[in-house]
Amino acid sequence: MSEWIYMNGEFVSRDEAKVSVFDHGFLYGDGVFEGIRVYDGVVFRLRDHIKRLYDSAKSILLDIPMTPEEMEAAVVESVRRNGLRDAYIRLIVSRGVGDLGLDPRTCSRPQVIIIVSQIRLWPKELYEQGIRVITVPTRRNAPDALNPKIKSLNYLNNVLIKIEANLAGVAEALTLNQDGYVAEGSGDNIFIVRRGVLCTPPAYLGALEGITRQVVMELAQELGYTVKEEPFTRHDVYVADEVFLTGTAAEIIAVVEVDGRTIGSGVPGPITRRLTEAFRRRVRVDGTPVYPEAARQVS
Ligand code: PMP
Repeated sequence: MSEWIYMNGEFVSRDEAKVSVFDHGFLYGDGVFEGIRVYDGVVFRLRDHIKRLYDSAKSILLDIPMTPEEMEAAVVESVRRNGLRDAYIRLIVSRGVGDLGLDPRTCSRPQVIIIVSQIRLWPKELYEQGIRVITVPTRRNAPDALNPKIKSLNYLNNVLIKIEANLAGVAEALTLNQDGYVAEGSGDNIFIVRRGVLCTPPAYLGALEGITRQVVMELAQELGYTVKEEPFTRHDVYVADEVFLTGTAAEIIAVVEVDGRTIGSGVPGPITRRLTEAFRRRVRVDGTPVYPEAARQVS
């Protein structure tokens, strides 16, 4: 659990970590964020997360009041302060405190907050058995309205998709884009596997450019699989040999049923399992170490 929370250059206790009701992140979802994992004292792909944060901020004309290098150092220091080796980091940059009107020019200064905590999305059994999902009527935000490539604090579209999954009694939902092509899950990217070839929707169709998605594409290529970024429909998902979702919180989770159709033989497939093993090995080494190497070996 996070004891020390980074707020605008200072570490404060949980009780002191309070945000104004006039913050436009709270009033309008005006801001950007990242979710990052720490595995065995290594912040997984920290640089990629910081890059995406700054890209998202640039897109919404939010000027983060520190450099990417300073931000990286603040994240590492936040983990160290909390003395955690395995954690989930929530990095938030909101537009800051302003008037009640939505005009961002009334906001004096963006707020930078780093929370280091834990996350468990689904119970362990679901990772072994795979999950059931549905596709929901709520479409993913159109890229020309609010581009899903921007990891903004405005997650209402995703929340609505998740509510539809909850109402249907399934673990997660798939959402389509405006043209009916599969976009992603409420908080994760999707891959399908057919005859040994992996396919994930191109992000321009309406999906976040997931960092786990990127890592899985690299691992799959290293293992000799062909990986394609191509549009596909629900039909392609139904007839796939394997389906899985990827995300920082979700990691890699097999999907064994979609809209009542059993995927493959109804259990996590061999390629999904192979990639999961490769991913588990990779997360411990591919990132920014928080503690000195000597300290890592002692524990
Ligand atoms: N899509 C959405 C909508 C997300 O919120 C996330 C992150 N939770 C992802 C995909 C996966 O991205 P990443 O692998 O970078 O966590």
